[in-house]
Parts: sequence; structure tokens; C-alpha cells
Amino acid sequence: MTKSFDTIVLILPLFILLLVESPASAQVAPLAWMSDSRSKLEKELTARYGESQRDRLGRGLKQAAEFWRAEDGDAPAFEEFVRTNFAGDQATLDVMFNRFEYLLEKLNGHMAEIGREFRVQADLDRGPLYPFDEMFAGYSAGAHITDDFFHNKLAFVVLLNFPLTTLDERLTQGASWSRRQWAEVRLAQQFSKRIPAEVNLFIARASSEADQYISQYNIFMHHLVDSRGNRLFPPGLRLLSHWNLRDQLKADYADEKNGLAKQRTIQTVMERIVTQTIPAAVVNSPAVDWNPVANTVTKAAVQDVEPEHPVSGALTNAPEPDTRYATLLKTFQASRKADPYSPTAPTLIARRFNENREIPEARVKAMLESVVSSPLVPEVAALIEQRLGRPLEPFDIWYNGFRPRGHYTEAQLDEIVSTKYPTPQAFHADMPNLLMKLGFSKERAEYLARNIEVDPARGSGHAMGAAMRGVPSRLRTRVERSGMNFKGFNIAVHEMGHNVEQTLSLNEMDHYLLNGVPNTAFTEAIAFVFQAKDLELLGLSSADPKGMTLKTLNDFWGTYEIAGVALVDMAVWHWMYEHPDASPTGLKAATLDIAKGIWNKYYAPVFKKKDVMLLAVYSHMIDSFLYLPDYPIGHLIAQQIEEQIRKSGSIGSEVERMVMAGSIAPDLWMKNATGQQVGPEALLAATEQALQEYRK
Ligand SMILES: [Zn+2]
Repeated sequence: MTKSFDTIVLILPLFILLLVESPASAQVAPLAWMSDSRSKLEKELTARYGESQRDRLGRGLKQAAEFWRAEDGDAPAFEEFVRTNFAGDQATLDVMFNRFEYLLEKLNGHMAEIGREFRVQADLDRGPLYPFDEMFAGYSAGAHITDDFFHNKLAFVVLLNFPLTTLDERLTQGASWSRRQWAEVRLAQQFSKRIPAEVNLFIARASSEADQYISQYNIFMHHLVDSRGNRLFPPGLRLLSHWNLRDQLKADYADEKNGLAKQRTIQTVMERIVTQTIPAAVVNSPAVDWNPVANTVTKAAVQDVEPEHPVSGALTNAPEPDTRYATLLKTFQASRKADPYSPTAPTLIARRFNENREIPEARVKAMLESVVSSPLVPEVAALIEQRLGRPLEPFDIWYNGFRPRGHYTEAQLDEIVSTKYPTPQAFHADMPNLLMKLGFSKERAEYLARNIEVDPARGSGHAMGAAMRGVPSRLRTRVERSGMNFKGFNIAVHEMGHNVEQTLSLNEMDHYLLNGVPNTAFTEAIAFVFQAKDLELLGLSSADPKGMTLKTLNDFWGTYEIAGVALVDMAVWHWMYEHPDASPTGLKAATLDIAKGIWNKYYAPVFKKKDVMLLAVYSHMIDSFLYLPDYPIGHLIAQQIEEQIRKSGSIGSEVERMVMAGSIAPDLWMKNATGQQVGPEALLAATEQALQEYRK
């Protein structure tokens, strides 16, 4: 269940009020009568239900009191609510638990059904998409459920009877909890915060402003000129920072003539963005030419794209006025407003690590540091230098040249796939076969295929799980008029991995409240294991005997890069919490210091260059609220799961076994799956082995 943002029109007056009263520093005021009511009820109900209920009762009263507000009722109303809804014996508690579990499945399941139907036209390849289709697609029927449950007090029933836990408790005690205890913990977690609608609105506004800022941050590449006025990039090329800039940089490894010059130019552009020395006039504008090295701006001498706004007024290289950092600061200020309403995770940092990831921040930091400081880094770096035939430059953190050679051309593969799968139905019909090749029994393969429907995707493809048992999951894949092509097949096999996980971890789970996997990294790892079998599933030999070796080296280098980016993101959020009144300029200075510090410690020794700021260029850092650590953690988790599945020899039975742990803490899930908690050891060991293989 997710909460969201109440009707904007109704809330606007409150929003204006908040601007003056700055609630981020204000604690939620306790109700004057609450403490008397609690002690009275504790005495009364312990007498009624016995000493054995005292602890549960005390905890429930504390939890309910923490979220009860004046508008929920006065002292007599609170007391009456507790008397009526405290389950003082096991039999009543069992009925209550079962009812919640059953009805929440119905609620989530049907909400997901509505959401899926509302998105059909947007998601599937079924003809024109009208503006009203997009409005349907954007609607979230379940957006106000958490608010509703506090209003009708079902949330308080849960808080009065089931335990809210800290991450520390889940990690230190969770291994000895029963499945039912875990399910109770997951039930209570759904109501661990009660964020007022006006605070959610603030967060939503900051988030959408940041999205807006990022989504329009394009660089018109043909307008980059060098000192002699040369243009390295073709007309019309418009790249969104940082994704497209980075991907262009990766693609330029293949350009033997101008690749290096282009890559250096992109690095300079990125640094100008990070330092905000980029002229405001060049952002999202083809109306000017820009020499990023000299940082001079002139009126565009060529026109490749019609500018939306012709240059008006004086043409200057006046820098962007720290908008990047002002935008980030707004997401921080908005997040902070939720802190007082989230008692078990009272900062955004705590919510990200303790609730979303469920891996303590200190451990994540240690894992990332053990990757970036690994003695394997200089070894892999030396290999890259050798392959490039030149010393490394800072942008080589994005080196992508560890690619296996294929035996078949793309055209040959397209031909094979389109003959085999002319329609989505043909792929679906073959699914039991594919699953049996992956090691599932005939019976299991047929069962899975019955529970996975295949639809033609409008985009590249995705997997959509159900949220109640008995509803099939959906595999969406792109099928051209001429049939499925190889790229579509490769994606379909990846999505099939998600669908298998979704189907088993929902339909076969012992408790509905434990359905799924701990987080997306786990389901992605399973999907990648499936995807890697694409050629074998077509009956072709796998591409390159060195393929696995190269893939591991590629994963390691990618993890090394993104781990540094994540460390910057984490340090910046800490700095903001330590300097809540910082200005955008102050935040910029701090971010540059942090990025340089991490570079100098872990990257400069390898790249032989100090004070590089590239690690701060990721756009997620500005608009995604401390999301970046998910990427390196995902790499580590993927390596562990993939290695375990390879070791076992059978994808089918191993995936079936693993996913039955459900959505418990990631470390416990991983222990059950591999015998180890989440960590970098598998990646480091695989890299070491890959280096040996490579040198053979
Ligand atoms: Zn995926």
C-alpha cells in the first residue's frame, strides 16, 4: 500500500500556512490526556486479560498513542476504542490476524486489477493513445488507502495489536521469528507512519519540480564547438543529462576517429554541470554555440533544430545560478517535514536504509567501500588500459568494452526468432517448453505457463505481477508485425524470470503478507539468470566461451563506478541533515568537496588524476531522494544469486526453493538462499577468478 497526495485544490490553504510555520522542526505535540488514559487502560485491561498480556498491551497502547491525534477523538473515545479493539486472548488475535491478511489481499489484489486495466491502453500495443487514456493510466485508485485506514481506525486496530519493529530488531531477532511473527511484523509496518496530506503534498511538489528540472536538462550536442569552431557531434543530437551523455560516452568507444575527443568533451560538459559553471544559456537550448573548455557562448552559427525560445537580450555565459543544488535542497527540506510523523525511521536516510532496503547504512557503506578499495580494481584497470591502448582517463569509469563476441549476426537471430514466434501467442504456447529447458518439472512448467499471460507491449516490455492469488501475472513484450525479433525475445525471457518469481512467491507463499521478494534487486537477479540463457533456449550454443568472464569483469567495473556515486549520494544527504539551513551555494561547495574526496581516496590512485567531480553528475542525486545506493547493492545481490543458481546446476528447482522465503529481511533471505548474508564477497571472488580466466 502506498500513500499519496490528497486533492490538491482542497489542501492549498494548508500548504500556504505551512510556508510560514516551518513544521520540519516542530515535533508532533502529545495529547495532554494521553498519558493518564494509557495508565488507566493498562491497569484495567491487564486485570481483565491477565498478566501475560501486560507487555503486548503496553506496546499496543504506546503504538496507538503515538499516532492518535486530536481529530481522532478525545480521551473517552480513545479509551472506548482500546477497550473494544484490544485482542486480549490468542483466539481473538488469530481471527483478527487472519481477517486482516485475507481482506488486505482482496484490497491490494483488486486495486492492482483496477490499476492494470486502467493502464492497458498505455501499456499495450493496441492502437492510438488518447489524452484520456493517459489520464486513466495516471490514476491510482489505492492512493488514499493508508489515510482512509487511519480515519476509519483500522490502522489503529493493527497498531494496538501487532508489533512495530526497528530494523535492528528485525535483524537481530528475525532469524528466530516464526513465519506468522514475520507476517505480523509486515502487517504493522504498513502503518508505521502517518504523514499528513499537506506534508505529502510538499514532498510531491518537490519531487515533481526536481523531475521537471531533470527531464528538461538537455544539451544540444551539435552546438558544442572546440577552439577552432569544429563540431564533433552530428546535427539534431539532443542528450539528456546525465543518462544520454553517459550512454553517448559509452558508444563513443566504438568511434575510432573522434571517440576520444568526444568523450573528453562530454566529461567537460558533465563537470560544468556539477560545478554549475555551465552557462544558463546553453541548457536545453540550440540557440547558442558553446565551447565548454573555454566556457564561451556565441549565437548559434548553425541551425539544426528549431529553438523554442530564440535568444533574447544580451548573450552571456552567466552560469546557471546553482539551480541544481537548490532543487536538491528542496527535496531534502520536503523530506524532512515527514520526519516527525515516522517514529521508527525519523529521517529520510533511515527510511531508505531501514525500511526500503532493510540493510543498515553502516553495512552498506562498508560493502561499497570494500568494492572501491579492492586490490582487484588496479588489476582490472590495467586490463582496461591494455584493451584501450592508452592510459585511463577519468571518464573511463564508464568503460564498457568487456563484451563477448557473438557467433550469430543480429539478422540471423531475428530470422530464427521471428520464424519461431510470429505472435505473442506462439511464445506463450512454447513457454512450458522453455521452462522445462530451464529445469522446471513438466507439471511445474505447465502450471507456471497457465499463470502467466503474454501481451504485446507498447514499449520494450515489462512484467506485471498480480497482488492476489489466482490472478495471472502478465508478461509484456514487443512483437513487431513481422514477428518477435531477437531483442524482443531476449527481453521476454528476462520478463519471464520476473513472472516466474511473481507467480511462485505469491501463489505458493504460506502467508499472503510475506508474498514477493525483499526488494527489486532480488527479482532482477532472477530475471538476469533467465535472460542469460536466451541462446540456449533457442537451441543455439552460447555466444563466447569467454562470455562469462567478460560479463563478470563488466559487472565488477560497473559496480566500482556506481559504488562511488552511491557513496557521494549518501554523504551529501548526511551533510544536508547536518546543515539543515544550508544555501544552494553551500550545498554545492559541500557536494564538490565530497565528490572530490571520494574520488581522491578511491579513484585517483587508479586514474592518476586528482579532484575529479564526475561522481556527482548523476541526475538521480537531484530528483530521486537517496535512491542511488540501490544500484551497487543490486549488483552485489545479483552476483550472489546468480552464483548460487549456477552452482546448483538447475535454475528451476533453485529458484523455486529460494523464493519461498518471501519478503523477509534481505540478509535472512540471502542466508536461506546461499548460506551468506548480503555482501560483496561473491562479486570479489568471481572477479578474481575472472581475472585468472582472462589471462589463460
Ligand atoms: Zn527486470
